[in-house]
Amino acid sequence: MAQNPSLKNAAISAGLEQVLHYLEKDPETNIPKIMKLIDTVTPKDWYAKQRAAFRKAIEEKNNWYQLIMKVYELDPGVRQAFFRNFILNASLQGSARQEEVSARENCNVPWAILLDPTSACNMHCTGCWAAEYGNRLNLTFEELDSIVTQGKELGTYMYIFTGGEPLVRKKDVIALCEKHSDCEFLSFTNGTLIDEEFCQEMLRVKNFVPAFSLEGFEAANDSRRGEGAYQKVRKAMKLLKDHKLPFGISACYTSANYADISSEAFFDSIIDAGALFVWFFHYMPVGSGAAPQLLPTPEQRTEVYDRIRAFRKTKPIFSMDFQNDAEYVGGCIAGGRRYLHINARGDVEPCVFIHYSNVNIRNCTLLEALKSPLFLAYHDGQPFNGNMLRPCPMLENPEKLRKMVHDTGAVSTDYESPEAVDTLCDRTTPYAEAWKPQADKLWSESHPDQAE
Ligand code: SF4
Repeated sequence: MAQNPSLKNAAISAGLEQVLHYLEKDPETNIPKIMKLIDTVTPKDWYAKQRAAFRKAIEEKNNWYQLIMKVYELDPGVRQAFFRNFILNASLQGSARQEEVSARENCNVPWAILLDPTSACNMHCTGCWAAEYGNRLNLTFEELDSIVTQGKELGTYMYIFTGGEPLVRKKDVIALCEKHSDCEFLSFTNGTLIDEEFCQEMLRVKNFVPAFSLEGFEAANDSRRGEGAYQKVRKAMKLLKDHKLPFGISACYTSANYADISSEAFFDSIIDAGALFVWFFHYMPVGSGAAPQLLPTPEQRTEVYDRIRAFRKTKPIFSMDFQNDAEYVGGCIAGGRRYLHINARGDVEPCVFIHYSNVNIRNCTLLEALKSPLFLAYHDGQPFNGNMLRPCPMLENPEKLRKMVHDTGAVSTDYESPEAVDTLCDRTTPYAEAWKPQADKLWSESHPDQAE
């Protein structure tokens, strides 16, 4: 008899819930025992590679094992909420539901939704539009609540706040976490609005995790973000660590800061501060403030690629390099394939960097947005390149974004000044052409079976 995937995942969830409960008592002793049990309850082909890596981590007590032990130093309530929301709800039960809806509706259904609660920011970083733009655009609490409620219907339990500075709206952010206690909420933040009172709120709701934006070390960070900004982030990290609260780092690499930001010293400094994860983003030359000279050269991008992969094998921190790690997620994740973005005006965009859309959440449902022309073009076009080191329809395959936007009639959603897709793609074309030979070389060396 064919197995219903939702029922199968519900059974796995129930088993895992027991496992996690058991681990709470004595993780160091019980983790090896549980690994054997996980191998028994999960089908052989289900996350086989990940399970093998996990087994190796336990046997060797390597950096991944050390990271797991750090998770067991967190506040128990926060840890348990994370396991329940992130692993059981978002990744197991949610994924099964997303697949069902995706197959039925013939569209992408996201694992995560990025939301801008506000366009406002309390800082004045060089090159950032937010401070100048101010408090003009906000999603109301009711709109945020409706997006999460609709998302859960589709199987989406992971919500990530961007902005603006999301914590300008910290009361609403916390209220949303409280109302949707079965979801995990993460927020990019400049860190300056995190104080003792906010830590207490995080401990109360349990399902909110901040990711601090850093540009590098103090001098590089403060030259863009203003004097004292780096020390404010260090202070916020210490506060969270003292309260046994989880947090991570988000770092954008450019031709100017790539060496510092991917250095061993940078990794060690954020690990010492208590960060559990670091997300690296490649600079994207989007909008009127774009600075194409900040795009890393092929050699610089390769250096970042090599370093992050090397540190992933040795450092106790979960690192993702969004432009170079597409192979682990099958290429571009936007357009609802794994995520989408809703800006503070309600425009539903395929990606936080792709400011084109046919729809606004104030005039349509989430499912209707997923079936809008640009989202369907993403659905039909992904992956945009067989070489996973060239995943993006804007950065590495600009002819694809150009065509999708023209074919679907999507319009610019840029807050500051609308940008024609041809202007954007003309800007990224030289980069794409320069990166192609190096990307093809790296890809064929690392994946000889898939070389063109
Ligand atoms: S559109 Fe580009 S930047 Fe956005 S998720 Fe896809 S590959 Fe990444």
